[in-house]
Amino acid sequence: MELQEKQTLLDELKKELEADNTLPLCGSNLVFGEGDINSQVMFIGEAPGFHEDRLGRPFVGRAGELLTGLIQKIGWKREDVYITNIVKRRPPENRDPLPEEIEAYKPFLTRQIDIISPRVVVPLGRFSMNYFLPEAKITRDQGKIFHVDGHIVVPLFHPAAALRSTEVLKTLTKSFEALPRIIEEVQSGAIAPENKKPAEANPQQQLFSL
Ligand code: URA
Repeated sequence: MELQEKQTLLDELKKELEADNTLPLCGSNLVFGEGDINSQVMFIGEAPGFHEDRLGRPFVGRAGELLTGLIQKIGWKREDVYITNIVKRRPPENRDPLPEEIEAYKPFLTRQIDIISPRVVVPLGRFSMNYFLPEAKITRDQGKIFHVDGHIVVPLFHPAAALRSTEVLKTLTKSFEALPRIIEEVQSGAIAPENKKPAEANPQQQLFSL
């Protein structure tokens, strides 16, 4: 898809989200997502927090600073990837998103992913991971490569969890360091997307030692 067409479809999607006041959490600001709409990588968090709600941008608080640092550490720039959340508005008091909130925003995220069509989707944390892989466990499955519905999915710990635990930070940093090689392997065709349903999405044989 041409860049211009992608941009138009994303603008339409954003307008639809803005106009739909049947969606939950409508009292807070829309945080649609940002970054390179042609990026090969799309990071997907849970839901905006206080700072994200204020600025209308994803991952701009402390967890966002950590995420930005990890992106830079592997030689990428934040503006060269695409970052969004499953739920596009802030749950009160930063509580976890409810299943019905995730469900309500799901069709919008699905369309956003389809338009951007990144080579690799990186869910951050269990809520986002379970969107693709309902049976997966974040501690067991983070850093593994899954094939889901034609997407290559590499779930990672949520950066907020890494702010609370040095062990999690170490694992997240290590798993992050594998991302450029995973992208290279996808580009070279060594890892090819497969059209598996979530239930049969067993992790691909681990190609990299994490
Ligand atoms: N946590 C998230 O999951 N998303 C954000 O945008 C910020 C914090």
